[in-house]
Amino acid sequence: MKILVINCGSSTIKYQLIEPETEKAIAKGKIDRIGMDGAVLTHKAFGKDEVKISAEILDHNVGIEYIVSILLSKNHGVIKDKSEINAIGHRVVHGGEIFSGSVLISEDVIKQIRACIEFAPLHNPHNLRGINACIKFLPDVPQVAVFDTAFHQQMPEVAYIYGIPYSLYKKYGIRKYGFHGTSHYFVTQRTAELLKKDINELNLITCHLGNGCSMTAVKKGKSIDTTMGFTPLEGLLMGTRCGDIDPAVVLYIMSREELTMQEGNTLLNKHSGLLGISGISSDMRDIEQEKENGNKNAALAIDIFAYRIKKYIGSYFASLGGADAIVFTGGIGENSPLIRKLSLSDLEKMGIVLDDEKNKLNSKDARIITKNDSPVTVFVIPTNEELVIARETVKFLT
Ligand code: ADP
Repeated sequence: MKILVINCGSSTIKYQLIEPETEKAIAKGKIDRIGMDGAVLTHKAFGKDEVKISAEILDHNVGIEYIVSILLSKNHGVIKDKSEINAIGHRVVHGGEIFSGSVLISEDVIKQIRACIEFAPLHNPHNLRGINACIKFLPDVPQVAVFDTAFHQQMPEVAYIYGIPYSLYKKYGIRKYGFHGTSHYFVTQRTAELLKKDINELNLITCHLGNGCSMTAVKKGKSIDTTMGFTPLEGLLMGTRCGDIDPAVVLYIMSREELTMQEGNTLLNKHSGLLGISGISSDMRDIEQEKENGNKNAALAIDIFAYRIKKYIGSYFASLGGADAIVFTGGIGENSPLIRKLSLSDLEKMGIVLDDEKNKLNSKDARIITKNDSPVTVFVIPTNEELVIARETVKFLT
């Protein structure tokens, strides 16, 4: 069996062709710069060299056509006929309150995903473009939508209602939704496997630290609170997003700088976070390098980034009534010993005893970075959102 996993952004499409039996990707790749000059398809079939193909890719329709062609191609392909693709799983960012789980895509479902565009104007339209393009080129293949918000849909009201008039929740659906659900779900399941425990016996704090960053309090396998909110702007400091802020600051800046809604949105989403504080880059590798070079603002950005994680660890310890394990994942979580060390420093009284040597170890495998006798175990687990999407998609094929 082969499942095509599709993740569409505004100018990108990432894809993987996964065999559920082995849970391995037999081909994966990415198209960058869709609709721009210099669009390029990077493709890697298992056991073959990576190829880069420059092409005019004006929209997602053409992008999906290219992906299907390269999967079928003689030199770089892995299938002989389109019919070998048994199903397609799509990442969809926002499922609102409608979707608390994955769903087989139908015309009605497409309408409902469209209705969620107002919550995720930067994401859902592109996800829908990918879905429509697949319907066009692979009309007979079942398609499944897997939502970033779904894992958090069981959060209790106490965690998701904001301190604004309740009528605004009823009128506009303003509440915490949470994101990165597939990643938090993946590492939750993986932690239970690694600890050889039932998921229902575990309380976890999962930290997904990539360009976007979020943490989740997971009680007995269910998300009970998470740092991202109505949009992916709330919570931790991120590459270019501000995270938690006094809402009055936003009103003040917009008034003093005479910003439009669009400009205000851009300031908080694109010019803040690590980039805004350091003034250097949104990329943690650059910032760590600059900190080493003695740049004070780079050091400050790192300290703020790690301090927020630490604060939420404390907060979620309280929400959960204690945690069995903490998990780091995402580009920064998996690869930055410095961020992990700073976020976990001085937490021995909470039972978190880091092992410096294990923390520094450079590995692509899931691993424990606390001392053997640490009451709370800290894991580093490479995330695999595509695999979750493939697993979810398979469920609809029986
Ligand atoms: P996305 O959220 O777009 O999927 P990733 O999960 O790949 O992104 O995370 C990207 C972030 O991970 C960037 O800030 C990058 O600098 C950081 N990162 C990757 N490798 C390292 C490393 N070795 N040390 C520190 N940060 C790293």
